[in-house]
Amino acid sequence: MDHWLAERTLGFDSSGIRRVFDLAAKLENPINLSIGQPHFDVPEPVRQACINAIEGGKNAYSQTQGIGPLRDRLQAGIDQHYGHANRRVFVSSGTSGGLVLAMMAMVNPGDEVVFLDPYFVMYPALVRMFGGIPVTVDSYPDFRLDVNRIEAKLTDRTKMIVINSPANPTGVTASDGELKAVAELAAAKNIALVSDEIYSAFMFDQSFRSPAEFNPQTIVIDGFSKSHAMTGWRVGFVHGPQEIIDVMVKLQQYTFVCSPQPAQWASLAALDIDLSHHRADYRRKRDIIVSGLRDKYELATPGGAFYAFPRAPRSSGAAFVEEAISRGLLIIPGNIFSAQDTHFRLSFAAPDEVLYRGVELLCKLA
Ligand code: PMP
Repeated sequence: MDHWLAERTLGFDSSGIRRVFDLAAKLENPINLSIGQPHFDVPEPVRQACINAIEGGKNAYSQTQGIGPLRDRLQAGIDQHYGHANRRVFVSSGTSGGLVLAMMAMVNPGDEVVFLDPYFVMYPALVRMFGGIPVTVDSYPDFRLDVNRIEAKLTDRTKMIVINSPANPTGVTASDGELKAVAELAAAKNIALVSDEIYSAFMFDQSFRSPAEFNPQTIVIDGFSKSHAMTGWRVGFVHGPQEIIDVMVKLQQYTFVCSPQPAQWASLAALDIDLSHHRADYRRKRDIIVSGLRDKYELATPGGAFYAFPRAPRSSGAAFVEEAISRGLLIIPGNIFSAQDTHFRLSFAAPDEVLYRGVELLCKLA
């Protein structure tokens, strides 16, 4: 049946990460630092709002662009924060749905899309799916958003720059100056700037800033998956220039249709939840990891999200991860997120006791 498969499916695979999960499935009581989502549950009022929506019969399709009350709340916040006359929001099927539609709306075959390496795994896959060419900017060893390195990769075929701060897999956050420089570069070159802000709720050392503050045409993609531990509920939102948003909504109509309606009502309730204690908790967990590994590992301090990306103490990151897994520690090899096989990702969205066991074993392995 090979000839049934479209050529676009052949350009990427997911065997690396599956191998890790296959190895992991054999472990009893592993030290699991591999999970890419919060370790707390969906806040109770958010769960209740979802139940109420289901019991109240809000189970049909919503409008393509999302339920009015959620859109109105999001739009009011965006208008107040940015004050851009032309900025509109719609509700997507998770941040992933927003990324898919952004690429579908803007990437033509042969278009180049620029982003940092290491990157979130979906970026190169989606670019290729739409016939585009992923162009990576090496950000080792400190993973900073360096405008000069980005500018060096621009050509007359560059259509889009995707940035992600706080970043998966490094946890590194861009400074205001770095964001401003890239935002202004994109504006000066008339290149679409897409900002994946899914970890915006988890900033540890400074408050969150968006490149949209410096470039009003920035397309911002955000969502409730990480902030409210709602990864399974599939609610995200996208805001940007109305002309682009309208096309993305049109494409949503023929693909995702809408984000699940009960989960959208829950997201409306989520906007009233104070996340500061979770942010403080993850900041403290970040400090446990950084102070625990500092003497033995080369590590860029994560300023946000819940990931750290240390250099492996062996020549191959993937070989080191297999060794760690054989000792009961689940981490993710860096080459899943990178052309380079030198690092590994750990998630500190885990109970303290698990973090301490992980740090102890990592120090022993080093
Ligand atoms: N962007 C980044 C950087 C992510 O890490 C993730 C989830 N791992 C997503 C987008 C997708 O999130 P979701 O589709 O659940 O909103």
